Amino acid sequence: MSFSFDTTLANARNLDAADVLADFKKEFHFPQHNHENVIYFCGNSLGLQPKNAEAAFQQELDDWKNVAIAGFSKAKNPWLFYQEYMKPALARIVGAKENEVTVMNTLTVNLHLLMLTFYKPNKDKFKIMMEAGAFPSDQYAIETLVKHFGLNPDECIIELSPREHEKLLRTEDIVEAIHHHKKNLAVVMLGGINYYTGQYFDLKTITEAAHEACTYCGFDLAHAAGNVLMQLHDWNVDFACWCNYKYLNGGPGCVGAIYVHERFASNADTPRLAGWWGNDEATRFKMEKGFIPKTNAGGWNISTAQVMNMVALRASLEYFDKATMQQLRNKSIQLTAYLEYLLHQLKNIQFEIITPINPEERGAQLSLYFKTQGKEIHDKMIENGIIVDYREPGVIRVAPAPLYCSFEDVYRFYEILKNNF
Ligand SMILES: *Cc1c(COP(=O)(O)O)cnc(C)c1O
Repeated sequence: MSFSFDTTLANARNLDAADVLADFKKEFHFPQHNHENVIYFCGNSLGLQPKNAEAAFQQELDDWKNVAIAGFSKAKNPWLFYQEYMKPALARIVGAKENEVTVMNTLTVNLHLLMLTFYKPNKDKFKIMMEAGAFPSDQYAIETLVKHFGLNPDECIIELSPREHEKLLRTEDIVEAIHHHKKNLAVVMLGGINYYTGQYFDLKTITEAAHEACTYCGFDLAHAAGNVLMQLHDWNVDFACWCNYKYLNGGPGCVGAIYVHERFASNADTPRLAGWWGNDEATRFKMEKGFIPKTNAGGWNISTAQVMNMVALRASLEYFDKATMQQLRNKSIQLTAYLEYLLHQLKNIQFEIITPINPEERGAQLSLYFKTQGKEIHDKMIENGIIVDYREPGVIRVAPAPLYCSFEDVYRFYEILKNNF
């Protein structure tokens, strides 16, 4: 795709005028800075509050107040089925069948549960492959999982690192490593998009390679869900999990989600740790011995639906359904390309864009490495009401989420870099 950009404010405003999703910005609450909305580029960490969330919370508070236990069946949105309300939209977002997704727990907990389903170390196959420098929670999860089986993380975890002098993993190197370790490899588990570099891995090719190596393949989609287009089912991905509070705006610590390919989800014999909410609904309340799993991803549910923890997500997903992932992605590609274009016009600052230049290999986020003034630049942005995040050493992550960020927002970011350094 090629776009025509220039460095004028008028160009930014024209791009906003042509943006079919521009009105969604009004559907979100922005923190205030000098009595104005901040510019928010941190949707990759915590999405903004959708304005329809408050009424949705009020509904559940009212139903709880007025009917208490009867709310499981008599609430306006019966709580018994609360998870069901989110499945269609989430399935569309990750390219899955509805029977392959459910919401439950939180991300790292779900990663543990899915790994316990897919990681069955034996004397031949006992290794797990992940990215070096994966999100710490994922590293801790895999390290302790391996120890839980009485094994040594140093022998069981294969960490993929970029080539010397490079910052990104090459697909060909990932595939090569999978084939190389084929004999002992049990599970490949990568982030769909690396949280730090913003690199979107080639999930389809990696899954194919894993399957050729008779290895399960799963992804942590924390930074991919609601950000890029995926076809988890068609790509044959075995399992995935993600949080819903980043691009999906479900609120701090809200319910997480899982995907399990239907060839496992529909099989009651697929191993898992169980609880009553994963039991077949027909017999759940008989309170009898003997777990009979639901034959869909809901068979991994353990505890009572965390209703209050799903309310804002449900509200936010209404906007995703209206906007559609395809249109969000179209805008996102253009918005991030615009950010990249403007950055390249700057002659006064030394920096490197770590994130891939190919739009197919990234989502909304650009990770900028400033050799010297990283922290100062970050602080200057905050001072000017532009929320970005900073990671040592000198990396600012900028994520213009297409649902509520505009081209003018991106222009303002550029203007500060241009005029202050
Ligand atoms: C945000 C994020 C997490 C956070 O996990 P929680 O269990 O929700 O705290 C884990 N992994 C990745 C890759 C993330 O980006």
